[in-house]
Amino acid sequence: MSELVRASLAQIRKQLATREVSAEEVTRSCLERIAETEPSVHALISVREQAVEEARLLDGQGPDASKPLWGVPVTVKDVIATKGTRTTAGSKILGNFVPFYDAFVVQRLKEAGAIILGKNNMDEFAMGSSTENSAFGPTANPWDTSRIPGGSSGGSAASVAACQCYASLGTDTGGSIRQPAALCGCVGLKPTYGRVSRYGVIAYGSSLDQVGPFARTVEDAAVMLSVIAGHDRRDSTSSPHPVEDYTVFTRKDLKGVRLGIPKEFMAEGLDGSVAEVCKAALARAESLGATLVEVSLPHATRHAIAAYYIVAMAEASSNLSRFDGVRYGYRTESPVSLDELYTRSRTEGFGTEVQRRILLGTYVLSAGYYDAYYRKAAQVRRIVREDYLAALDTCDALFCPVSPVTAWKLGSIIDDPLKMYLMDIYTVSLNLSGLPGVSFPVGLADGLPVGMQLIGRAFDEAGILSLGNLLCDANVAQQKMQPELKKSV
Ligand code: GLN
Repeated sequence: MSELVRASLAQIRKQLATREVSAEEVTRSCLERIAETEPSVHALISVREQAVEEARLLDGQGPDASKPLWGVPVTVKDVIATKGTRTTAGSKILGNFVPFYDAFVVQRLKEAGAIILGKNNMDEFAMGSSTENSAFGPTANPWDTSRIPGGSSGGSAASVAACQCYASLGTDTGGSIRQPAALCGCVGLKPTYGRVSRYGVIAYGSSLDQVGPFARTVEDAAVMLSVIAGHDRRDSTSSPHPVEDYTVFTRKDLKGVRLGIPKEFMAEGLDGSVAEVCKAALARAESLGATLVEVSLPHATRHAIAAYYIVAMAEASSNLSRFDGVRYGYRTESPVSLDELYTRSRTEGFGTEVQRRILLGTYVLSAGYYDAYYRKAAQVRRIVREDYLAALDTCDALFCPVSPVTAWKLGSIIDDPLKMYLMDIYTVSLNLSGLPGVSFPVGLADGLPVGMQLIGRAFDEAGILSLGNLLCDANVAQQKMQPELKKSV
């Protein structure tokens, strides 16, 4: 493995800016790393070989200090449209879909000088917690390739953890950035709902979806957020709230900082070895000067999973109705009627989990059941948000686990959907509330990464990144997975 791929985004930017290395060299070393690791990790659905040519062009123009990602190779979850490059959402139904436009976030990456190396594997339409629901086969965790990387943005997390790129983009509807970041030992940020435009992002649950970065350090995630944040008139949910410079960390220490610890998250259900690592991280925060205050989110663990899955499935059933075999992607062979064209294209094009969710989502929205399920879930959602806002009134940020367990074995719970849904216990409530959260490594349990998340007030990404930078275990984030991966490749 080339030393170049081990660098952080911040380090490689410096080397590129001074021409110590060329964009082409960096791009080639990432492509070599991809070739070396893909057989065992499978973090990518498409690799863009033309990246080398693009890098050469950049080299010809010379470094541009006004472009924060000049020459930096990144990868993008395959739910995000890339002009001229296949965008599948991990589904057979979009297996041959080549967008004719870039998503807002991709435009921003390109304007910032980034090189897009490839498209990350994911659970089909972002539905899942393990990246096993992809029509293109599962992704493996670079720390131990017999284990899942988390999901649904497992490819984006694994790509960063395996040093295939310096940062990536994912989407978080119910935890799909924070959870794979935690399980792969990297940093993942879910911005406030509306902070980042979703123009060109294939919708799953529109009232929950948000795009955000993965990186190996908090500093690098902040650079990525600064590039992609901002208002976009093409996404009506995008916010005009001013964008801050997230790369300026205002906190130099934790003195006087109040961290709220949700008591329901540090209780039964949290695996013993994960709990120990989390408690050690809390003790470290305290020894660095933070005050820990117990807070309560009474509805976030008891009712959030049920409410989330009703809202998400309802919205998914509506969003996915556009994939009908007529307008996009896969179409069945020789149907005899229009009805058969729809039915067979969808039956053959969607995987099991997606079909399950379309059925359940249609059910909870149907006349007679709407009040009992969807309306009730919307009410619970408001109460969950109120829990968060009340807790945040008493502290600067909440600090809590991301996943109840470390990365589990591939195949071990894929046949038990309910068990899989319960893995999201600490993440989905944040999406119901719309607030921002950043997940970062705090240590290892039995050799596998454990992440915790900092949750802030709406649009306080700068605040949680600044605190996260002080609380992240940078050793785990940057180094330790390398020898493990070498062994398994
Ligand atoms: N695991 C959750 C689900 O399956 C969250 C997925 C996501 O955030 N995209 O819906």
